[in-house]
Amino acid sequence: MNRVVHLIEAFRHSKTMFAAAKLGVFDATPTTAAALAMRLGSDVRATTLLLDACVAIELLTRDGDTYRNTADSDEYLRRDSPHTLVGYVLYSSDVLWQLWAHLDDAVREGTHRWPQAFGMEGPIFSHFFKTEESMRTFLTGLHGFGMLASPSVIAAHDLSRFRRFVDLGGGTGHLALSFVDRHPNATAVVFDLPRVIPLTREMTRGRVECIEGDFFADELPPADCYALSRILHDWNDDKIHRLLAKVFAALPAGGGLLIGEMLLDDDRRGPVSAFMQSLSMLICTEGQERSAAEYEALCRAAGFREVHEKKTGTPSDAVLAIK
Ligand code: SAM
Repeated sequence: MNRVVHLIEAFRHSKTMFAAAKLGVFDATPTTAAALAMRLGSDVRATTLLLDACVAIELLTRDGDTYRNTADSDEYLRRDSPHTLVGYVLYSSDVLWQLWAHLDDAVREGTHRWPQAFGMEGPIFSHFFKTEESMRTFLTGLHGFGMLASPSVIAAHDLSRFRRFVDLGGGTGHLALSFVDRHPNATAVVFDLPRVIPLTREMTRGRVECIEGDFFADELPPADCYALSRILHDWNDDKIHRLLAKVFAALPAGGGLLIGEMLLDDDRRGPVSAFMQSLSMLICTEGQERSAAEYEALCRAAGFREVHEKKTGTPSDAVLAIK
């Protein structure tokens, strides 16, 4: 199939998966179309079309009338799987889908689409967190990706000399948990907005300290290593300069800053997933993805003397800056 025809069709594949996950197809297998339609109260013909499409895109197999999950859908698309990505699928379907619909306008105006798609004005996280449910969908969605990436982000550099690791905007705590898994004699802290911290406590179950605060407005809790995982890509260069200057000032000499982000190749030709993520940042934040050289320049401008970067082969790469 030529590239253009393939891309005309590509969004249909995504939406097929979103609809099936949202309807709970992957939680209901093995099943027949008739049994599933009865359970969902859905139309039998349309349910059969959806299940057959899922077979065609390799999310289900069919044996006679019975549909079963593939290994990937069983691991990532069942709600009760420890590696579930259903939170991110729902966030993609219910939020990103509507924002991406206005990508052309985002490119014309250079700004996110919350006002256009949802009529929302104000700080961006007030949109992600409009309701308790939307906050949970967003953060548990990121948690799924975090579970895939955080052990590799923590293992990418030698962090064994650090005693107190503070993850700024640490969300559900997957990075802080990966840090204490690898360095059980050190302490990890998640610092996040007050309305997020109850969810952090629930997800981390006493294994890390949880502190409420605003990293732009409040004093940072003391640390010899800070982390910013999928934080810098939310903000423009001015806010990043402010935040990095604050982190630098709070660190002792020799202290570290671990940045977890997808890195664009320095020649700006890939990887594809990082460029797709960069457009996604355009439609929902003030930021974008950056290359290792760009993160290095930002860290050096804040005063960091050494900057090391490592690709991890997971949805987050790892940059370590040393004061
Ligand atoms: N670090 C987590 C991860 O990698 O999954 C979450 C990343 S999420 C894109 C951004 C996080 O920053 C959210 O948990 C959000 O609550 C937090 N955040 C946003 N603005 C903040 C602020 N001003 N102070 C502290 N945390 C903030």
